Amino acid sequence: MLEIEDLKVHFPIGRDSAVRAVDGISLSLGAGERVGLVGESGSGKSTVGKAALRLLSPTSGRIKIAGVDITKAQGKALRHVRRKAQMIFQDPHSSLNPRMTIFRSVAEPLILHTRIRGRALNGQVAALLERVGLPGQFLHRFPHELSGGQKQRVCIARALALDPTLLVLDEPTSALDVSVQAQILEFLKELHGQRPDMTSLFISHDLAVVRFLCSRVAVMYLGRIVEEGTTEQVFAAPQHPYTRALLSAVPLPQGRQSGNRIRLTGDIPSPANPPSGCPFHPRCPEAIAGVCDVMEPVFEQSGAGTSVRCHLLTRNAA
Ligand code: SF4
Repeated sequence: MLEIEDLKVHFPIGRDSAVRAVDGISLSLGAGERVGLVGESGSGKSTVGKAALRLLSPTSGRIKIAGVDITKAQGKALRHVRRKAQMIFQDPHSSLNPRMTIFRSVAEPLILHTRIRGRALNGQVAALLERVGLPGQFLHRFPHELSGGQKQRVCIARALALDPTLLVLDEPTSALDVSVQAQILEFLKELHGQRPDMTSLFISHDLAVVRFLCSRVAVMYLGRIVEEGTTEQVFAAPQHPYTRALLSAVPLPQGRQSGNRIRLTGDIPSPANPPSGCPFHPRCPEAIAGVCDVMEPVFEQSGAGTSVRCHLLTRNAA
């Protein structure tokens, strides 16, 4: 359903340099798969989401949605793909036009892309709102009259209006209160139960959220995927030191905390000036001097079933 091949998104700064927000990632999502793309802020994961739907143009690489190369698609072909692929953003407050009623916001994609009008349109919008758990009285309200969770439900209703086969969800709960986050996550899980054919790319900095919703996980660091595998594999035996550090901060069931919290020092480096060798080496507690700061590791299969970009794999296998 979604194939990303060696995607690079660089933003030029000045004459000779660029911010390498995404620097050569490949990822495939089969029909009905739910894949989590995780990493700290600044890892490039949101840029991948936007490029996947061509909301911004890639520098190089290829993206196919349902077999159509959207890096080259124009006009009607691009519009057709966009109908079937929708994005839900982090901040529902800025995703809705404050001057439009909820009815108008949800009806807009149907008005733009279909011939549904009049009573049929009213009925369809009401059914969409009902599907996301909002009763009919919300139809004629404005966004400022709704809570954050209700606004995000409206955004989800609008994204579902054209019956998409691919959803890209960019931190859909991180702008919401914790109790509301849980409701939206439960709702998203139910939605996938109702639409098992719908493919989702779920972008989050929160591994616990990804574990709840996704069957596969890809971990990003500084514009590259550093580990990828099934949720079960990644949580049971993380191979990359960065994945291990992220996982050590995830609370265990019943609110317990993992005993061995790995605290990373320093911030994620600037993608305009990435470190030599392995880009994680300045922060990596397991870096091998003379190797990790010099040679860039390749992406290879680990014994645990995941694919990993780390020199430790080769060293441990030797
Ligand atoms: Fe750490 Fe070296 Fe592995 Fe990079 S390649 S994650 S620096 S051990």
